[in-house]
Amino acid sequence: MNLEEFLMNNIGKLPAPMAAWVERRIKRIPSIREKIDREYDGLMAGLEPSLKPYRDKYPAFLRLPEHGRDREEILSEMESMREEEEAQWKEGFVSGAVYHGDAEHIEFLNRVYALHSQSNPLHSDVWPSATKFEAEIVSMCANMLGGENACGTVSSGGTESIMLAMKTYRDQARDTKGITRPEMIAPVTAHAAFDKASQYFGIKMVKIPVDANSRADTDAVRRAINRNTVVIVGSAPSFPHGAIDPIAEMSELARERNIGFHTDACLGGFVLPWAEQLGYNVPPFDFRLPGVTSISVDTHKYGYAAKGTSVILYRNKELRHYQYYTASDWPGGLYFSPTFAGSRPGALSAACWAALTSIGRRGYLDATKKILETAGYIKREIKQMPELRVIGDPLFVIAFASDSLDIYKVLEALGHRKWSLNGLHKPSCMHIAVTLRHAQPGVKERFIADLKAAVAHVKNHPEEKGNMAPVYGMAATMPMRGLVSDMLKKYLDLIFKA
Ligand SMILES: *Cc1c(COP(=O)(O)O)cnc(C)c1O
Repeated sequence: MNLEEFLMNNIGKLPAPMAAWVERRIKRIPSIREKIDREYDGLMAGLEPSLKPYRDKYPAFLRLPEHGRDREEILSEMESMREEEEAQWKEGFVSGAVYHGDAEHIEFLNRVYALHSQSNPLHSDVWPSATKFEAEIVSMCANMLGGENACGTVSSGGTESIMLAMKTYRDQARDTKGITRPEMIAPVTAHAAFDKASQYFGIKMVKIPVDANSRADTDAVRRAINRNTVVIVGSAPSFPHGAIDPIAEMSELARERNIGFHTDACLGGFVLPWAEQLGYNVPPFDFRLPGVTSISVDTHKYGYAAKGTSVILYRNKELRHYQYYTASDWPGGLYFSPTFAGSRPGALSAACWAALTSIGRRGYLDATKKILETAGYIKREIKQMPELRVIGDPLFVIAFASDSLDIYKVLEALGHRKWSLNGLHKPSCMHIAVTLRHAQPGVKERFIADLKAAVAHVKNHPEEKGNMAPVYGMAATMPMRGLVSDMLKKYLDLIFKA
């Protein structure tokens, strides 16, 4: 064995920064570089056909057509793509993704979008309707989440809401406490958007572990706090396992030390308030806790709006001011914008407002009841399957693992039965985020039947390795994490390949 091979085989035993250094060195060795690139190219070539199914079916445009195409022709092509893609989510074969999906609801949102398709909230003088819609969306969400005096803004999605909040805490701490080396504390299960914010805004990420039920370890949070901590994060619930962190204890630690606390209710913001009213056991997570200073809540998930809106809420206006951008000396005039974007799609805010007001409190209560009952059935049925193990005690995002089977093979076998669930790792498992699509008659029973068939197939065919299962397995366990990142970048390149 030569030195490179020795290092590659033992890199997992090195401390992370040293492993990253060794990895960078190894990757610069031309022979190894070539070998890695060949591996990736082979992997990507295998994925390409399924990722690009339309290559031979529809005309492609690698440059602008000389003359504009016929509108009817364009529409008919798009109509046909929609038809190919619609059945899977409509019939409830997909985890999360489309949270409402009822034909009449979609038709209504589309009409609203069409009415306001030219609207841009950046021009608040031209479209006062857009500012009305956004102010009221924020107010309705604040009210729903126990924030009588809370305020906020509309953003493009959960990731933007989270990144805005993290930037806000960084800037607040710099201004009021002189902190120049900011740190955030977040459970390992917190959404990747927090890592993204850490990278983008130069905030050190301090990860804390979760317990056997996938809830953040409060003692670890306490130990992680130092004088550079600008915000502590908890999820209600977390994306991977649907677990609600001990927000009350965590936010109290933050409050005692005058540190910000962000509840990520992107997923649960439009479910938990109604679950509580329905009598489910929902631990406190919102502004009723005095230590919670901001909340992200996704209108485009269980708020049932069209994709492209979310809300970031703050306990008070002083905090919100750190989010805003203003330019007072620009030749382009006095300029200000509340979020990352400049021009924004007013039509999406209009559709969001229309979704919220057309559904109403009773509508959300009904929808939540259906979803929680469906999820309860799925959870109980999975718990009775000896090969599977539900992680924690979730309400509507149900993650499950296996101690006897390769769970990724089960995921793949489900895929062969049309299902698209989320593969997760650390620990290896998968989840289903239960939506109104799964509450349609017969869907939950079909899911359990297909899951049982998938488990049986994997048990009876131990010789089958699968196509995606080894990739998941490798990505979860490969010690050189930089290689996994490189692979994901190659995958993104492939996505953008025309
Ligand atoms: C979906 C989700 C996000 C990110 O939202 P996007 O809308 O995908 O950007 C953040 N946190 C949690 C818990 C989520 O479920």
